[in-house]
Amino acid sequence: VSSRGCKKIRGSQIRDLLDAKSSVLFDCDGVIWEGEKAVAGAPEVVSLLKKEGKKVFFVTNNCTRPRENYLQKFTRLGFTDVEQEDIFSSAYCSAVYLRDVAKVQGKVFVIGGDGVYKELREAGVPFVEGEVDAPDVTIYDCPLDSDVKAVLVGYDDKLNFLKLAKACCYLRNAACLFLATDPDPWHPLRGGRVTPGSGSLTAALETATNRKATVIGKPSKFMFEYIASQFDVDPSQSLMVGDRLETDILFGANCGLATMLTLTGVSKLEEAHVYMDSETPEKKNCVPDYVVDSIADFLQALNA
Ligand code: PLP
Ligand code: CA
Repeated sequence: VSSRGCKKIRGSQIRDLLDAKSSVLFDCDGVIWEGEKAVAGAPEVVSLLKKEGKKVFFVTNNCTRPRENYLQKFTRLGFTDVEQEDIFSSAYCSAVYLRDVAKVQGKVFVIGGDGVYKELREAGVPFVEGEVDAPDVTIYDCPLDSDVKAVLVGYDDKLNFLKLAKACCYLRNAACLFLATDPDPWHPLRGGRVTPGSGSLTAALETATNRKATVIGKPSKFMFEYIASQFDVDPSQSLMVGDRLETDILFGANCGLATMLTLTGVSKLEEAHVYMDSETPEKKNCVPDYVVDSIADFLQALNA
C-alpha cells in the first residue's frame, strides 16, 4: 500500500528514490519548460538520468503540435539527447488509439488543429476537419458525412459554433465514438492570461449530447499502457513527475507509478493538502507521493 503523502524530498532522498526507479516520465509544460523557456537545470537533469541508464519519457496533454515539433522544441531549448520515440503527446496517442484500439471503420470528425491533423495523417486515420466559420452559414449549409464514425475533440483556437453544431449532429448516433485528446480545463499564458483547454471544449459537447467523452491523454491510463507496450517499463519501477494534480498525479496513481509534484507549474502545495484531507478515492489519488520545488532539485542527487 502506497503512503501517498506529499513528502517533500531533496538530496539523498531523491537519490534513494531514483535508485529504486528505472524509468522516469515527465510532463512537459510546467515541469520541463514553461512556454518557450526551459525550466532551469532541466536539460542537464534529462541528460544525467539518461547517462545513468534510466528510461526517460515525456508525456504531454498538449495536442497542438506533432511530435517532430516537440523534438525541435527540445533541441531549441538546449536538450541534447531527447529522441522522438521518447515523446508521447495526446494528439499522437489519440491517433494511435483510433488506429490500433478503436480501429474505426470510417472517418474521424476533428475539432482541433494541425497537431491532431498531422498525427492522424501519419497514422493513416482518415478524418474530416471542422467547418471554417463564415457569415450567414448555418448548420443547414453543412452536409453531414455518413462515413464519420468518431468525433475527436482537442484544443482548437479556431473553434466556432458550426464545428460544435456539426459534432453534436454526429454524436446523436450512439455508434459514433466520442473521444477527447485531454481533459485539461485551462492553461496559463504569459502576462497572467489564461486559455481554456480541450476539457472546456469537450464539456460543451458533453452537455449538448448527454454523453461522456473517452479521454486519451492524462489521467487516462492509455498513454502509459502504450509506452509500456513499446518499451520494457515496469510501473513499480517508474516515477511520474508532473505539475498538475488532476491530470499528471492522478495519471501516475491510475497507472500504479510513484508520483512527484513539482512546484514550477500549475498546482500549488496547498491544493495537494486539500486532496490529502478528502475522503473520495479519486481525490486521494490526486495526492502526490513526493514534492520538489523544481526538477533542478534532482541535480544534487544526480551529481553526487
Ligand atoms: N494543451 C495545450 C493547448 C497547452 O497549451 C498545454 C500547455 O502549454 C497543455 C495542453 C498541457 O501540456 P502538458 O501536459 O505538457 O503540461
Ligand atoms: Ca503540465
